[in-house]
Amino acid sequence: MNTAFCTTCNKKTNYELKHEPIINFRNIEVNVDQIVPYCLECGNDMFIEDIENENLLNLYSKYKELAGFVTSKEITDFRKKYNISQRELGYILGFGKITINRYENGALQNQAHDDVLRNIIKNDAFFKEKVELAFAKHKITEKTYNKVISNIVDNTKNDELDDIYLLYDHEPSIYNGFTKLDFDKIESLILYISSKIKLYRTKLNKILWYIDFFYFKENINSITGLRYIKKQYGPVIEEKGYNKITSYLDRCDVISIEEAENGYEIIKPNDEFDLNIFSEDELNVIDKVISRLKNLSTCQISELSHQEKAWQYTQDCELISYDYADDLKLDL
Ligand SMILES: [Zn+2]
Repeated sequence: MNTAFCTTCNKKTNYELKHEPIINFRNIEVNVDQIVPYCLECGNDMFIEDIENENLLNLYSKYKELAGFVTSKEITDFRKKYNISQRELGYILGFGKITINRYENGALQNQAHDDVLRNIIKNDAFFKEKVELAFAKHKITEKTYNKVISNIVDNTKNDELDDIYLLYDHEPSIYNGFTKLDFDKIESLILYISSKIKLYRTKLNKILWYIDFFYFKENINSITGLRYIKKQYGPVIEEKGYNKITSYLDRCDVISIEEAENGYEIIKPNDEFDLNIFSEDELNVIDKVISRLKNLSTCQISELSHQEKAWQYTQDCELISYDYADDLKLDL
């Protein structure tokens, strides 16, 4: 038998448990089962703290879910993503040091706090503003500030890389040379090419295209997995890839994009390139294409590409089939 203090009988009595549903809570139909202890002597409901806490947790968790509130787990996951403690997050948001702990343990946040939590989870830039403000007001230490900011930057980069894969990674077909996107190879290739020649951003398209197509000619695979479309000045990576990919590498400090005297943009390498990820055959083609094109202007390479069937037989802005690799006219 369970016993507890009954305030009606004014003594310890035996009790049992009954189930009572809560139908509505804060104007939302929750239908949550609550467990209520009652005194076996007088029949009145009793208050037992542990049971009551459990009831509240169940109620709040159901309510959060139905009302679209940020859940305890979402807050915990968010902290883990940025490697910050409950206290640190509390200080960043100006909630006080134990508030986050309460929310993660199931307590119900008010609407204003929920709005802020929802925003920081959805929006990196908003969270960054909060972190900067907290640091400016001396609410967090420099160490916390540096840690969180660098984690936000890393996280943004990961999201960007995900976006690149979403845009440029496709199932193997004749348009990507039967190869899934290999971003490590693209990165190393850009570093390698830019270390060998004065690499204008616009030139990159044609060099990568020749490398991929020449490699495909012998191996029925491309190196990068990129798809190219026909543009007026020659083949270019689809979806403005040369722009998006080089901008991403620039933000990651792998390369720098500098403006030249003539107004064109030049790609400069910041990192070491890793040639180990290429096979001997791949390197062979890469080196041949680079030496063949290195002293030609963007315009001259553009004219060469116009001699290619791949360019001539493809419609404007359409994907170029690797089938044309067999007919490459450029002599290496
Ligand atoms: Zn009683």
